[in-house]
Amino acid sequence: MQYLSTRGGDAGKSFEDVLLAGLAADGGLFVPAEWPCFSKGEWRSLQNHSWAGVAAMVMKPFVGDFLTGQELHALVEDAQETFSHAATTPLKQLDDTLFLLELFHGPTLAFKDVAMQILARMMDIALMRRGETVTIVGATSGDTGSAAIEAFRHSSRVRIFILHPHERVSPIQRRQMTTVDAPNVFNLAIEGDFDDCQALVKQMFNDAPFRNRMKLAGVNSINWGRILAQVIYYATSALALGAPDRSLCYVVPTGNFGDIFAGYVARQMGLPIDRLVVATNLNDILHRALTTGRYEVAEKVLPTSSPSMDIQVSSNFERLLFDAVERDAAALKGLMDQLAQSGGFTIPETAQAWMRQLFASGRASEEDVRETIRRVHEQTGEVVDPHTAVALHVAQAHIGHAHTVVSLATAHPAKFPDAVQAACGVSPALPPHMRHIMEAEEHFTVLPAELEAVEGFIASHVEG
Ligand SMILES: *Cc1c(COP(=O)(O)O)cnc(C)c1O
Repeated sequence: MQYLSTRGGDAGKSFEDVLLAGLAADGGLFVPAEWPCFSKGEWRSLQNHSWAGVAAMVMKPFVGDFLTGQELHALVEDAQETFSHAATTPLKQLDDTLFLLELFHGPTLAFKDVAMQILARMMDIALMRRGETVTIVGATSGDTGSAAIEAFRHSSRVRIFILHPHERVSPIQRRQMTTVDAPNVFNLAIEGDFDDCQALVKQMFNDAPFRNRMKLAGVNSINWGRILAQVIYYATSALALGAPDRSLCYVVPTGNFGDIFAGYVARQMGLPIDRLVVATNLNDILHRALTTGRYEVAEKVLPTSSPSMDIQVSSNFERLLFDAVERDAAALKGLMDQLAQSGGFTIPETAQAWMRQLFASGRASEEDVRETIRRVHEQTGEVVDPHTAVALHVAQAHIGHAHTVVSLATAHPAKFPDAVQAACGVSPALPPHMRHIMEAEEHFTVLPAELEAVEGFIASHVEG
């Protein structure tokens, strides 16, 4: 399989190239040259496969000769070891037609673990073959940083530096990162807010001499390897619920559009997904875009109880738009230029119509989230986190159609104990295997929000 950039610049890249590059050189995102598709019979033959067996079959067409089916199978099984649930991503039935797909049984209790654990293992193999090392630098307000640290803590070819805003991350989220004691993991507590951390990371990537000397790499949600790994649980859950002979609707709590784009990939591969529902919190650029056709950046990010979806733009939406404009890279680039210059663009009519055949959307206010956590607990006994509640609120509007609705549960409620307790009166406990983090020793370095200080620290630990 070859990959190309949504903006027309890079083409003919291999899976290994796009895995290590992250972003394309022209600023676009990598997509496969075509969507592989399995027949109904092929999907049926996967119904009795293990999670790793389905994963290997689904990923194989995209990785080409990077890994054999057997190697993929072994890699995925190894990643699964870090999950505490025997089913890895179990389904839980809430009522006649509604299912929760629990994606939070990984080491940091959020869905990002699924992709990150697989990505880290694939990157290690690529780096080993090339005899290269990289330096991962990222900013986090919580979930991404801890998932990345957990995934790369054993990588001999990766050093990882994660910036978080000093004293502005919840104790659980901070401790998930800082209690990891590994020689290649560095937590930098920046004296500033999350925007300062993000700005510093951007400046480092724009500092070409520094970027090249340190061999900087990113593992954010635009990395194709992450999206691909997320296709796995759409496939395993759809098969468990009767696909390819029963059609399904998925509701996805959405920020950067990575997770739901993986659902789109699953559908392109032939799974009978007849609706993908984008569920946003107050940061609703996608809900507005899908209902009005106007993709327009809001003035500022609104802080909510579902912080991992507090975004201004949804980077991966570019991948869907590319298909929506029939892969016309020049047209796509025109829209992205408008976005950069004026903060918005209108999605062409035909592209809007195409999107609406498959995608729907909804938005949850903070009150909706509280009420949903309370109601779900009262009606089913389940305690859900605020991200999951955003999706369940939006799912309500899509229940009652003939098909089965799967709502994605992206974080464990114990990651957000205060919001959950305030909404339903239950204080969710951390799973036993995680309780040690509240006592373990923390490792982090406090630095001012200054480029020179941060680059100096990184250089001394990469070259020193
Ligand atoms: C990252 C995240 C999301 C949003 O996923 P996207 O791929 O960015 O749309 C939702 N819920 C949780 C808990 C997350 O960590």
